[in-house]
Amino acid sequence: MVAGTTTERVAPADLATGTRDGLETVRPPAAGRTSGMPGAVYLDGEFFRPEAARVSVFDHGLLYGDGVFEGIRFYRGRVFKLAEHVARMFRSAAGIDLVPPVSAPEMEKLILETAARSGLTDGYLRPLFTRGAGDLGLDPRKARRPSVIIICSTLNAFARGADTGIRVVIAGRRRTPPECLDPNVKSLNYLNNVLAKAEANRRGADDALLLDLDGNVSEATGENFFAVLAGTLVAPPVRTNLPGITRETVIDLARGRVLFEERELRPAGLAAAEEAFLCGTGAEVLPVVAIDGVPVGNGRVGAVTRAIQDAYQELVRTTGTSIPYPEPPGR
Ligand code: PMP
Repeated sequence: MVAGTTTERVAPADLATGTRDGLETVRPPAAGRTSGMPGAVYLDGEFFRPEAARVSVFDHGLLYGDGVFEGIRFYRGRVFKLAEHVARMFRSAAGIDLVPPVSAPEMEKLILETAARSGLTDGYLRPLFTRGAGDLGLDPRKARRPSVIIICSTLNAFARGADTGIRVVIAGRRRTPPECLDPNVKSLNYLNNVLAKAEANRRGADDALLLDLDGNVSEATGENFFAVLAGTLVAPPVRTNLPGITRETVIDLARGRVLFEERELRPAGLAAAEEAFLCGTGAEVLPVVAIDGVPVGNGRVGAVTRAIQDAYQELVRTTGTSIPYPEPPGR
């Protein structure tokens, strides 16, 4: 029996979209993997092994970054905050006038089925809506049908930093302002973030904090930012960054543990921070021990950060939507 299969099972045949089985039935954990990358991919009605999935070179997601996406994790056979991620994905789609060819409940089912077919019990899901294949002009009307892609694989981005903390720099590059491209929309345009990460790489740091155009701390390249100042947990408002689902979770977890305040943070003010951390689905809760080469607090992971980190790890391992793995043969 697979861990966490407590809610109703979804037989592949029940799926609203006509899916064709491109995978052998797999048995968790990863028992069905034959070779290559672990995982499974859903692409416009079919399931593939990760290395076999292909999109059109005319897809406007590739040509123009015209699309939206999500990053979701699953732990011990359960998907964390599935409904919240799918809801944000549909808000992102609405933010770029993209009408998905599936409903939110259908998308949730497809995500769960992709995870089930991966055979993985712990991993990462990357659903995307792209504008779809069009011609070489950028007019979105040329792409007639959005594509639905769901990649299920593993993720190891910041595995080592969770214990010892990471070192960040403040990027010279500013966060794209909402007036140009709303950072609340999780679009396929991540060049702003990618180039800030490249700057962190060049400067020997693990990640970068981006300031907004007013010079306030906005967020990291793929995570939200928190600091502890005079014993209070502080996070910048989300107008200039992504309203992170982990951020919301951290704010919930802070209740009863530590005072929380949402307010603008100037980079100069960070010198007084006792603690700081990043958070995101991929990064989870990631302590920051230095900013621009200056230690945060005593330069070690602080007590508030550790308490939030522990509570987060407990929560992700004990909640979530069960993945409907097929019953192992012989049952
Ligand atoms: N900011 C950015 C720019 C991100 O890409 C992400 C990751 N999706 C986050 C913040 C954190 O969001 P979440 O907690 O929902 O993963």
